[in-house]
Amino acid sequence: MVALDTAHISARGVTRIFGTGHAQVTALSDVDVNIHSNNFTVILGPSGSGKSTLLNILGGMDRPTSGRITAGDKALESLSEQELTNYRRTQVGFVFQFYNLIPNLTASENVALAAALVMPHKEAAHVAKQLLEEVGLGHRLNQFPRHLSGGEMQRVAIARALAKKPALLLCDEPSGALDSKTGLHILSQLQRTAHTSNTAVVVVTHDASLASSANRLIRLADGKVVENSVNSSPEIIEERL
Ligand code: ADP
Ligand code: MG
Repeated sequence: MVALDTAHISARGVTRIFGTGHAQVTALSDVDVNIHSNNFTVILGPSGSGKSTLLNILGGMDRPTSGRITAGDKALESLSEQELTNYRRTQVGFVFQFYNLIPNLTASENVALAAALVMPHKEAAHVAKQLLEEVGLGHRLNQFPRHLSGGEMQRVAIARALAKKPALLLCDEPSGALDSKTGLHILSQLQRTAHTSNTAVVVVTHDASLASSANRLIRLADGKVVENSVNSSPEIIEERL
């Protein structure tokens, strides 16, 4: 029932136009979406369809040209730059295609650094170890990124993004740089995180096989939502491994 819809984040009439005049590009056009806690939301669409633009707007890294984003009880357009930075820092975790780990810090130091933004240092080190164990890297705590495989680096990136217990975890092509089996392991990890924590997990991908694994599927084409569907019994990715 619509009245009971408890979206953590909603976008209403979101349009994002880049550039001006002849160089103008409408990356998103009148987009309405709801992002829910405990849900694995998948955004599918071809390259250039606006997926990254939508993710950046939901995460407060960019602002729409028009339309509204509501996160919890906050209307993002009413926040100052400082308040928006604070929202991003405390509420949102990001996972990118290319990990972006700090090369001269170990796996656990990379995660602890993020955790230390929201808790005392001693606790941060403990939380980092725990999170890395949860993503199956308990044996790699003291390795530097250059000694980790792509899949292991992405697991560190996921642990780092979860360190601040974000309300929202946004993942932009998280398996894009990995072979398909390793990529599936990463996606399975993200699906499990969605189902076992209060974090709303959103994954952007162009892997259409993910469609059946989503609680909520949003399909974009040319900046418009062309499908927005709910699946109460999605396929469990782990069972495909
Ligand atoms: P996707 O992630 O689905 O590949 P994007 O959201 O990156 O798509 O891009 C959507 C459209 O907006 C594309 O046409 C892209 O070229 C354009 N675009 C994205 N970011 C910018 C930007 N900063 N400046 C100008 N155009 C942009
Ligand atoms: Mg993109």
